[in-house]
Parts: sequence; structure tokens; C-alpha cells
Amino acid sequence: MRYVDEYRDADVCRRYASAITARATRAWRIMEVCGGQTHSIVRFGIDALLPPGLELLHGPGCPVCVTPLEMLDRALAIAAKPGVIFCSFGDMLRVPGTRSDLFCAKSEGADVRIVYSPLDALEIARQNPGRQVVFFGVGFETTAPANAMAVREARRRGLCNFSMLVSHVLVPPALSAILSAPDGRVDAFLAAGHVCTVMGLDEYRPIAARHHTPIVVTGFEPADLLQGIHMCVVQLEEGRAEVENQYARSARPEGNREAMHVVAEVFRVVPRKWRGIGEIPASGLGLRPEYAQHDAEALFDVGTISTEEPSVCISGRVLQGIEKPSACPAFGTRCTPETPLGATMVSSEGACAAYYRYRRAGS
Ligand code: SF4
Repeated sequence: MRYVDEYRDADVCRRYASAITARATRAWRIMEVCGGQTHSIVRFGIDALLPPGLELLHGPGCPVCVTPLEMLDRALAIAAKPGVIFCSFGDMLRVPGTRSDLFCAKSEGADVRIVYSPLDALEIARQNPGRQVVFFGVGFETTAPANAMAVREARRRGLCNFSMLVSHVLVPPALSAILSAPDGRVDAFLAAGHVCTVMGLDEYRPIAARHHTPIVVTGFEPADLLQGIHMCVVQLEEGRAEVENQYARSARPEGNREAMHVVAEVFRVVPRKWRGIGEIPASGLGLRPEYAQHDAEALFDVGTISTEEPSVCISGRVLQGIEKPSACPAFGTRCTPETPLGATMVSSEGACAAYYRYRRAGS
């Protein structure tokens, strides 16, 4: 398959692995901040190809996993209101809130529907003028343009019964927070190629310079990842800390200006809580005041929300690269993809789910 097979070529991967081994003279810790990359690393055993001491840390790169518990509880409360049709991508339905999840809410009678695009939710709103249709707008920079377009289109068409529960997060502030943490362990980052296809590379340059940390924008296939790791190792060994682009076939330095324009028109930067990590300043997107009529958080009064994470779950430490999933006492026993206790076990991009699926024996 063109554009896939060539990035999974075993000889190419072995050559990159040998080049990494030849170049690394000491232990380095490299963090990927993308659930798709985490999934590929575990699925294809990329870390097993690396020399001893070169450790891959799995960062907060899964948007489902970092959606805060408060927002899930808010979604559940809105979905339970009479007359509401609550629309979401399917991967959010089984993410546990404090006491339930959207899948259970659906089984108990709430009108929760899986959609494949925010425009599907717009169409449901058009077909149901007497109902309130709420779309769960979750994700990184990658999904923000389509969600922004849906809100703008709702306003253009006068669909007053369409609103969005927005829980967007931004990657660069998370990288800064990880590097500023007192127990930070990261020497270099693999940044997600698709995020940079939208936002470009420029936001990463001051972070790399301020923290003297290489950032390599990287794709998702085995050869991409090994080349990105090699680029990180070369920078680290040479004492450089620059932003480099392994994913030049898609990510341009300036990003996608049209996409960023629609995002800036509809959203503004806000503080945002990250599940397991806490609040990071200026790390999220919320609707601008001029779109308040489509802001589900403002439209639906759900009272006070008090949340409670399962005490055994260490997903916050997993998401910061401090612990591996197999360090969790519930991993593979009380917590499995069928009975998830934390968000990182629900999403296929979550580190716990990837470890469970591909390394059932633990590693
Ligand atoms: S295995 Fe389950 S309980 Fe443990 S950290 Fe992962 S999601 Fe949380």
C-alpha cells in the first residue's frame, strides 16, 4: 500500500535502529505526545529495537484520555436532560466519569448518538428543530478546525438548537508544563505530525530554546518513528535543541493557515484541566463570546460537579511519562478495556490500552 508499506519496511527500520545504537553514547529519555505514535511504538515493538538506556516515555497525547473528569460528568448531566440529543464520537462513550459513562447513560434511556463528524450533529439538529442537539467537541489542534466550522455553519444557518460542549486542548502548553515540572524526565520530544500539519512548527521554537530540549515533528509509522528518534539522538549528542521536521511530507512550517483562521474566528484560548495532570494555563480552546448561543456549557445549568477518580488509577503519572502502565496494580486485573477504571485504558490510543493489547504479559 503506497505511503504505508514503505514506512513499515523492515530493512529501513533496522538501519535506523542501528544508526541510533551507533550514535547514542548515554541514556536519553524521549517522549512522544501522540496516542497514535504510542500505539505504533507498542504495536511494532519500536522500543525493543533501541539500545539499553534509550527510553521512550508516553506523554499526554490521547485527547480522549486527557478530557477532564469534570467535563465527562458535565456531558452525562447534559445528556440526561429531557429533550437533549447528545452527539459524540464513539470513543468517548465508554470513558468513565465519576459514576457512569455515556454508554450506560444511553442504555438507561438518554438519547446519546454516535456521529462521525460534527456536521452529522448539525444535520441531526436540522432534522429535530424541537430538540436541543449537543455535540461533544473534544480533541487537539487536529479536530478543532472541523468543530469550529460546525459552529460557524450552525450560526450561518440559524440552527439555534445546536450547541457544542467544548473540551479542546492544545499541545504546546502541555509540553511546556511537562518540561517545567519538578519531576520532569524528558530530554527530547517527538511531536505529532498531524498536529503540526494544522498549527505549523513555529509555536515549538521558543519551547525548544527556553528548555534547551530538541523537538522533532514526527509521523506515525515505524520508519517515521525510528527516524524521528534518530534525529532526537543526533541533536542530544551534539548538544543542540532545535525544532526539526521528520514529517515534511505533510507538516509545513507555516501549518494550514485556513484551518488556523477558522479556529481563531470561533475559539479563544482558555485555561484547561487535563485529566490526571490538572489545570494548565492557556492550554485549551473555548467558544468566543459571540458564539455563546452555541456554547453548551453556558446553555445548560448542571449545578455543582464534584468528581472522584478511582484511587488505584495512576493514569496521571502514566500521562506524564513518570510511570509505565504495567506499574499500575490494577493493570490487566481490575482494569481492562472491558472494565476500564481510567481513560488511558478506554481509548485505543491510550497507553494502558496499547500495553494491554500488545503486551498482555506486561513490560
Ligand atoms: S491500568 Fe487502568 S487503573 Fe491503571 S493507570 Fe491505566 S487506566 Fe488507570
